[in-house]
Amino acid sequence: MRKLCLLLLFLAIAASAQQQPNFSKVEIKVTKVAGTVYMLQGMGGNIGVCAGDDGILIVDDQYAPLAEKIRAALKGITDKPVKFVLNTHWHLDHTGGNQYFGETAPIIAHENVRKRLESGGNITFIKMEVPPAPKGALPVITFDDKLKVHINGEDIRLVHFPHGHTDGDIVVFFPQSNVVHMGDDFFAGSFPFVDLDSGGSVQGLVADVAQIIPMLPPDVKVIPGHGPLSNLDDLKKFEDMLRGTVAAVAAAMKQGKTLDQMKQEKVLASYAEWGKGFVNADRFTEIIYNDLSGKKTGAFVKHN
Ligand SMILES: [Zn+2]
Repeated sequence: MRKLCLLLLFLAIAASAQQQPNFSKVEIKVTKVAGTVYMLQGMGGNIGVCAGDDGILIVDDQYAPLAEKIRAALKGITDKPVKFVLNTHWHLDHTGGNQYFGETAPIIAHENVRKRLESGGNITFIKMEVPPAPKGALPVITFDDKLKVHINGEDIRLVHFPHGHTDGDIVVFFPQSNVVHMGDDFFAGSFPFVDLDSGGSVQGLVADVAQIIPMLPPDVKVIPGHGPLSNLDDLKKFEDMLRGTVAAVAAAMKQGKTLDQMKQEKVLASYAEWGKGFVNADRFTEIIYNDLSGKKTGAFVKHN
């Protein structure tokens, strides 16, 4: 069940109650990352945890039906309460537990996360119409560019990188523990889903990742939005893949090829091993093609 891909999951949730995945089978795996930081994996985006004497800060909260299990897994780390909830972006596999955890801890996110949760929206790539979130699930502290949270001796830095996976993604740095949570700006070992409807851009993502890499120490531990715990080399390989795939699609477009021709000719064939996850090579070709053709909808005007 844990391996059920994101696409099926989204579709299942969107389709009907009967088709919902069986969250009761999901187990929450806890991994100690370094220092005060842990990683929780269940279903949906990886959860980052900073735990210590001051309490708990979590980065993302997966799906609402998993909230009790997540709470129980956190209790296994410390009895201290959850003090802060961060959202790396608005997608439901990262914010589903907001209402549950938001009852007792403030939710912090980029301004566009609150906007998108509040309005809901279409994610055409997965044919999903997301309804507006209830008030209790909305971030109550929002910011535009940067914010710090000081807890457990950690000066946690939240930095917004524009137009990557969406237009509201933040990357969370834990400098004392030497860990970074990349949110969905990093899918470890697989093609990323880039949500063009939510202001995302593959070209923007390349620029963001290129900007982040020099900010990281060589021995940093990297928590991806999806996939296993990673290191700086894994992130560099991801950047290389992004550059290579964008260049391949751009070259094909320059030759006047259509999207169908690119799929038939498998322009991303040399990156096949990245296509075993939620986004296969054809789908990623389509995302890049749409991005390079300027087919974007739903982007908020930055900084209202
Ligand atoms: Zn996402």
